[in-house]
Amino acid sequence: MGTRKPRVCGSVARDESASKPMGSSGIRLPPLPAKIATTIGPVPVRVVKDLRDENKDPIFGRWLPEERIIEVCEMPSLVTRWTTLMHERIHQILEDAGAKPTDPDTEERVCDAVATALVVELMSRPAK
Ligand SMILES: [Zn+2]
Repeated sequence: MGTRKPRVCGSVARDESASKPMGSSGIRLPPLPAKIATTIGPVPVRVVKDLRDENKDPIFGRWLPEERIIEVCEMPSLVTRWTTLMHERIHQILEDAGAKPTDPDTEERVCDAVATALVVELMSRPAK
């Protein structure tokens, strides 16, 4: 469904970059973009303070295909925000391409794997 829920195992709770300014741990990530370009037009990225699903459970992010908007929870960690944005973006890319896996768990794993790889790549770029 494109809804990303916080994991119970707590990758956020352990995230040391949460309260540090960008760069203090060698991490160089820009702020999230206001929109991302896609093959069929820009998709706005909305950062939401307290993002919840239809059951009022807290979530990290979601892709809203009807509105063509990505929402990301306003989390202190930029790494988690970026990983969530990339995760939701993979949902969008798969959907636009008509390539959504039939098994939702498989889709979530694909989104997690590709998002993590993209953020690691982004973080390992040399500073300008
Ligand atoms: Zn997802």
